Amino acid sequence: MTKRVEGTGADEAKAAAIDELGVAVSRGEPLAHHTWLAIGGEAAWFCEPVDVEALARVVRRCQQQSIPVRVIGGGSNVLVPTGGFPGMVIRLSAPAFCGISVEQPLVRAGAGAKLVHVVSAAVQAGLAGLEMLVDIPGTVGGAVVGNAGGHGGDIGQRVREVTVMLSDGTVETRGRPKLAFESRWSNLDDGLVIGCCFELDEEDPALLTKRMQKQWIVGRGGQPSGTRNVAMMFKDPLGTTAEALIEQAGGRDLRAGEAAVHPPHANYVVAGPGCSADDVRRLVELVRDRVRQRLGVELTPLIQVW
Ligand SMILES: Cc1cc2nc3c(=O)[nH]c(=O)nc-3n(C[C@H](O)[C@H](O)[C@H](O)COP(=O)(O)OP(=O)(O)OC[C@H]3O[C@@H](n4cnc5c(N)ncnc54)[C@H](O)[C@@H]3O)c2cc1C
Repeated sequence: MTKRVEGTGADEAKAAAIDELGVAVSRGEPLAHHTWLAIGGEAAWFCEPVDVEALARVVRRCQQQSIPVRVIGGGSNVLVPTGGFPGMVIRLSAPAFCGISVEQPLVRAGAGAKLVHVVSAAVQAGLAGLEMLVDIPGTVGGAVVGNAGGHGGDIGQRVREVTVMLSDGTVETRGRPKLAFESRWSNLDDGLVIGCCFELDEEDPALLTKRMQKQWIVGRGGQPSGTRNVAMMFKDPLGTTAEALIEQAGGRDLRAGEAAVHPPHANYVVAGPGCSADDVRRLVELVRDRVRQRLGVELTPLIQVW
């Protein structure tokens, strides 16, 4: 279902420029359909380009028309405001962006590939180094941009090179010297990640499979079950976990409107029926204040607010 973007002459000129692209672009796409929290407003424009050439045409046109662009991966770390996103949201779901190939000891993956599929492919090929990420939801693009990880390590440690599309549609491959990864952060904030190459270690596939399965069970046990309307609120500070700090500060029962801390796993927010993006924002601030006041620790939000 598409909707018209009503507005000024300038808005109409932008809409016409997008319509002329020859790429299937929908208007007024509800972003709640694309995020784990399942809340928030619409994207003014939304598309799933079929290949790199179509993607380049979209981003170039958006740059020419001063239309802001965002990529949505698995939507497991995004909070969309009630007002939505006034630009182009791109999902790299086409097969051209989801491929996975193994050339020992390298694994190449498109940014739209699910992280769990890349981990499984690596393990099957007897390549170690990503298995501790098996329980992290989302795509390769989202994981690399946010340097996803946990106590077993971060994805950035295994990245050999990343392929990025810049806002003028050009594509460049960046090797290690140009890449920086820190805790839940990378310097990949100036373009769209379209692919990544990981360098791994050869190991016995049977042993690796056991390790991956163990991580899956332990990791999933540490996540809320029974609902998908959740998000992780904070980064773990050095030497401890956000969950432990929230519990120590007595934050397990906090709520704001229909957003509540998930009591068994206190670093997650659960969005109840009718929850708004403002409820989630207020809860994140409430929990942050509580930990600051009671423990003197400043938690850093993980969730990306658009
Ligand atoms: C149940 C649960 C468990 C989680 N466990 C962990 C965990 O253990 N460790 C951890 O680090 N995180 C965890 N997270 C957070 C989240 O899953 C990760 O941050 C994940 O890597 C996000 O990937 P995504 O594809 O869903 O990204 P999205 O949520 O879609 O996007 C996140 C951000 O990255 C940007 N982005 C996405 N793809 C691209 C791209 N191709 N190019 C440029 N920008 C892009 C988006 O614009 C957005 O700003 C968890 C979340 C949930 C809900």
